Amino acid sequence: MEIKRLHLASLQGRDGRRWPVHGFVVTHDGDAVLVDTGVGGPQEALDDWRVVNRSVADALAELDLSPADIGLVINTHLHFDHCGQNAVFRHAPFYVQRAELDRARREAPQLRDWFDFAGARFELLDGDTEILPGLEVIATPGHTEGHQCVVVRGDGGAFDLLIGDAAYTPRVYEDPGTDKLPSGQASDLPAWRDSLRRIQALSPDRVHFCHHTDVIHR
Ligand SMILES: [Zn+2]
Repeated sequence: MEIKRLHLASLQGRDGRRWPVHGFVVTHDGDAVLVDTGVGGPQEALDDWRVVNRSVADALAELDLSPADIGLVINTHLHFDHCGQNAVFRHAPFYVQRAELDRARREAPQLRDWFDFAGARFELLDGDTEILPGLEVIATPGHTEGHQCVVVRGDGGAFDLLIGDAAYTPRVYEDPGTDKLPSGQASDLPAWRDSLRRIQALSPDRVHFCHHTDVIHR
């Protein structure tokens, strides 16, 4: 298993700073799995967040991959900066928590053309699930109702965690009790804190963030 990070966009956070947007490709025995597809959505959303966007195909090309090489997509959640280019992968199933698809259909009808287009094939998950040998998702509600993180197990039991937006930054990850959470970090604070405690109890060897370029090493 190998994890490669994609630079998909940058956007301006509510704090006025530029935040990167990362997705990840996990390759294993010729399989390539994409975790999150980058930014898309109505122009107002892109303007609001001052998005500097890239096509996911261009980002994949840097890894000598094309969209056709991606056999399945995992969306950590269905915010516009994580599922915005799902339609590029019409050939692939989207592994999403059922609770998250329900939430997004309810709360974000303006994004439906981007995640819920005609022909979108969902593999709906109810909690922790093994996707492939050594590749699992764990349900981590709190950022959104159906948020999930991705666990990648290497040889010898070491493991990497692709944390999605369960924590935006290493600082939040290390101090979830802080009362200075970035705007939007938790839609349900008690559930979010429970999820962070659970993630920390797993003590991942490395943690990779969608909106921060540092990787935490244990
Ligand atoms: Zn995000």
